[in-house]
Amino acid sequence: MIGVMNVSLYFHIPFCAHRCAYCDFNTYAGQESAIPAYVDALCREIQQVGERAPQSVQVTTIFFGGGTPSLLAPAHYRDLFQAIHRHFQVASHAEISLEANPGTVSLQSLRELRQIGFNRISYGVQSANPTELRLLERIHTYSDVVEAVRWARRAGFENLNLDLIYGLPEQTLASWQRTVELVLGLHPQHLSAYALTLEHGTPFGRWAAKGLLPLPNPDLAAEMYEWLDERLLLHGYAQYEISNWALDETQASTASSALQRPPSRACAHNLQYWRNLPYLGLGAGAHGYANGIRYSNVLRIKTYIERLETKERRTPDKSLPSTDTWPLSSAAVNAHRNTPREEMDETLMTGLRLTVEGVSAVSFRERFGVELTDLYGEKIERLTRLGLLEWTEDRLRLTRRGRLLGNQVFMQFVGE
Ligand code: SF4
Repeated sequence: MIGVMNVSLYFHIPFCAHRCAYCDFNTYAGQESAIPAYVDALCREIQQVGERAPQSVQVTTIFFGGGTPSLLAPAHYRDLFQAIHRHFQVASHAEISLEANPGTVSLQSLRELRQIGFNRISYGVQSANPTELRLLERIHTYSDVVEAVRWARRAGFENLNLDLIYGLPEQTLASWQRTVELVLGLHPQHLSAYALTLEHGTPFGRWAAKGLLPLPNPDLAAEMYEWLDERLLLHGYAQYEISNWALDETQASTASSALQRPPSRACAHNLQYWRNLPYLGLGAGAHGYANGIRYSNVLRIKTYIERLETKERRTPDKSLPSTDTWPLSSAAVNAHRNTPREEMDETLMTGLRLTVEGVSAVSFRERFGVELTDLYGEKIERLTRLGLLEWTEDRLRLTRRGRLLGNQVFMQFVGE
């Protein structure tokens, strides 16, 4: 179809049963009584943004993230999906994901969610080790994970992601390996593994500052990452992003790297971010990028609800794009119109996260009318000499070593 603008929708659900010790996401415990009003506010924001969307907009992925989206009842999702379908054109093949915490789902709720339209579940597993889970202050046990996966399968979910964290305090290579082996036994289509980061303002951040968190050294964390990558490859998973692996169910997994495209079970929603393509962020603290504007919504639940109730459109700063500008809603508090140069820098930085696809020089030229090497040639050459970047045909990608030092590579292109 000519002239279609494929966009993704991200919904932020900022409720959690308990705040985990390492978490710095915009999420709140003990505010569940605000859920009905929050869902109403989200429906209003869907209307505000959807009504002003260009005709050409087609939604190809929807992602409910958080927080703990599985704290909302299926009836809330029924209302949200009704609003989405009323105000947006959703592609029939759209990937529709729910982030869920094991321990907050049941067979019945999963059946209803599947029937409402979700076709992908992403469980926050983090670890299979009880001591590690307790230290992270997660509310679930590993048996909850096993049960939640079984229920999801029985409810008809064929596409499952499991999230893991490595580099935990006192974690050994053996305990990480055991977590990975157990999780592989659950046969997820997709796995994400992130290194623990210590965020300022979290209990973990404070304990680490006082020397109270015995973290594995960076070499051990790197060993955990490399072992994981090798193990997953043996099990048929293809890495397609620094922290993400997926099965390729269309052909042998090795073919996806030969074809330089992500495996078939790659997360289509996240690919939209990494390819620097438009996505709309709805909900408290959600971020979005469309129509050349990067923006974020007000953080607090109460203020978010108030802003959508009054329908008042405020432009917090005269230098920002007006909130009448699509896709900003009355919840937007930060907005920035990207310069062409910023768009190019961001496309390069997010694209380099894609370990197979990388950034194609041909696509870059077609999109921006500029040669990648004319803009960044010197830096690319230096990083290539250091063994952190490589060219595969027309694609610029991180090397295996570069994947371990990704942030240092990306920093080179910040504020270009
Ligand atoms: S469940 Fe997830 S979002 Fe909620 S506090 Fe824990 S880590 Fe953060």
